[in-house]
Amino acid sequence: MTNDAMKSSRFEIEELLYGYDALMPQISEETMRYHHDRHYATYVAKLNELSLDTPFAGQPLEDVVRSADGPLFNNAAQAWNHAFLFRSLSPAPQTAPDGALLAAVERDFGSFEALRTRMIDTAVGLFGSGWCWLSKDSSGRLRVEARANAGNPLCDGLVPLLCIDVWEHAYYIDYRNRRADAVKALWERIDWRTVGERYGR
Ligand code: FE
Repeated sequence: MTNDAMKSSRFEIEELLYGYDALMPQISEETMRYHHDRHYATYVAKLNELSLDTPFAGQPLEDVVRSADGPLFNNAAQAWNHAFLFRSLSPAPQTAPDGALLAAVERDFGSFEALRTRMIDTAVGLFGSGWCWLSKDSSGRLRVEARANAGNPLCDGLVPLLCIDVWEHAYYIDYRNRRADAVKALWERIDWRTVGERYGR
């Protein structure tokens, strides 16, 4: 393989759309630096290592998440999940859904506040490491669920709308063992405009 072909088959680290300190005070600069530059970057590096010279090299990351298993799935999904999470947050978020997404939230959960409670409880209730997801099925119905480790709704044909990282590395620097406080703080940084755009796609 030439250097150029090798380069094009590599998965890239997505840069943050905001500064490392832009989500303070809810998420510290130190957490963002560790989370993005160490944890997320390591998943991408490992994904590149594991996919090298396999049919997965050069595939869209979503396709790798849907079809790989074992360590390759774990690192591909962690790479995808983190990029998705970081894109869900904003220094100046739209703090509540509107339009079609709001209508779906009210239809499926009763209210936005009920969705918030449900997601926080689900994130806090997950035993061990993993993610709390909001996704939609093929009929547009919303669902909230926890998935262990690198779990991703793409694997079940669902459309991911939002994820909350409940691995300890996501909050231990700022919140120590207080996962509920970390999730409630993160909630304030979720940009519902971005989530709504995903719902409308
Ligand atoms: Fe993480």
